[in-house]
Amino acid sequence: MKTIHPYQTIGIIGGGQLARMMCIAAKAMGYYTAVLDPTPNCPAAQVSDREITAAYDDLAAIKRLAEITDVVTYEFENIDVNALEWLSDNAYLPQGSETLRISRHRYLEKTAISKMGIPVAEFLLIKDAGDFDKQVADKRVTFPSIIKTTTLGYDGKGQIVLRGEEDLIRARALAETSECIIEKFVDFEREVSVIVARSTTGEVKTFPVAENIHINNILHLSIVPARISDKVAKEAVEVAKTIASGLGAVGVMGVEMFATARGIVVNEIAPRPHNSGHFSIDACITSQFEQHVRAVCGLPLGATDLHTPVVMVNILGNHMNKEQLHDLSRFSPLLPYGKIHLYGKAAAVDGRKMGHFNVLDDVENALERIKKTGIW
Ligand code: AMP
Repeated sequence: MKTIHPYQTIGIIGGGQLARMMCIAAKAMGYYTAVLDPTPNCPAAQVSDREITAAYDDLAAIKRLAEITDVVTYEFENIDVNALEWLSDNAYLPQGSETLRISRHRYLEKTAISKMGIPVAEFLLIKDAGDFDKQVADKRVTFPSIIKTTTLGYDGKGQIVLRGEEDLIRARALAETSECIIEKFVDFEREVSVIVARSTTGEVKTFPVAENIHINNILHLSIVPARISDKVAKEAVEVAKTIASGLGAVGVMGVEMFATARGIVVNEIAPRPHNSGHFSIDACITSQFEQHVRAVCGLPLGATDLHTPVVMVNILGNHMNKEQLHDLSRFSPLLPYGKIHLYGKAAAVDGRKMGHFNVLDDVENALERIKKTGIW
C-alpha cells in the first residue's frame, strides 16, 4: 500500500453521481481525476480532468485508465470480472477484488457477515428451479419471506415478496432465470445505515447512523440523527466497524441494516460511497466522498462529527419539471435551508436519481419543508 498525494491522479470506473461527487471532493483536495464511462459527458465527466468513453468491459480502455492514473477506484460493484482480474494483477486498486466478490453475491455476503457473529435474516440458497421445488416440498420456504437474485439486484429489482402459497409460481419463475436466495422477512422498526471507512493503513472511522425511508424500494429520505436509541445506534456503528475490518475492506462502505426490537440485523453492504451517506456532504466535518479519497489514497481519515441535524431527500426524474430541468420552483420550500446537489443528467426519467437536497434544519422542520414540496 502506498500514499497517493495531491497532484497525483485518481481513476474512477463509472461516471455517475457517485463518481461525480468523488471527483468534486478529489479536486477540492488538489488531486486530478479520470473517469471511465460509456456515456459521453456523463455526470462525473463534467467535473473530471480526463474522460475515457468506453464500455466497462473494454479491457483496452481499462488499461488506458490505469496507465494515466496513480490509483484506481470504482463507483459501483458490478465491475466486469476480466477487468477486475487485470486491475488486481497489474494496477494499483487498493480496494482489491475480494470485498467486491463477496458483496456482489447475496449468498456469499450473508454467509460472510453471519460468520462474523452478526445477525442477518435467515436465508436459504436456491440454485435453480429444481432446487426451489425441493425446498418447497421440504417445507423450508416459509412466509412472509423475500426471494432475491443472488447477483445484479438493486433498488428492489430481482425481488419478490412471498406472502403466501399464491406467490410461489412467480418466485419459481425467478428461480428459473437466476440463482436466488430466499430470506425470512425481518420485522423491523426502522431501516438504518452506517457509512464506514477503512483506509489502506487500517484506520477505521464511521459516520453517524442514518435512518432511511424507502419508497418503491428506492431510498427517498435519510434522517440524521436516526430516531433510534443510543444503544441501538452504538450497536449499528460497532457492526459496521466489525464488517469493514473483518473483510479487510478499503475505502468507504455503506452497511444497510434493520433496527428490530431485538437489535440490529444486517441487510446488505455496498463497498463504495452510498446514497444514504450523501447527508455527510453538508452536515459532517468530512464528507463520505472526501473520506473515500483519503481512504484509498492512504491519507489520515477525517473527523466525521455531525455539525447539524439533516434530512437528505432524493430528487427523482418524476419530481422534476421534465421539459425545463433548471426549473426549481417546486422545491422553493426547501431552498432556504436546503443545500442543492444536481447530478447534471441530460434527461429526467421516472425513478432516475437526478439529485438530492440536504435540508439542514431540525429533523421535524426539515420533514415539514419536504412535505410542502409534495415529493413526500
Ligand atoms: P435490498 O435490495 O436487499 O436492499 O432490499 C430492498 C428493500 O426491501 C430493503 O430496503 C427493505 O425495505 C426490503 N427488504 C429487503 N430484505 C428484507 C427482509 N429480509 N425483511 C424485510 N424487508 C426486507
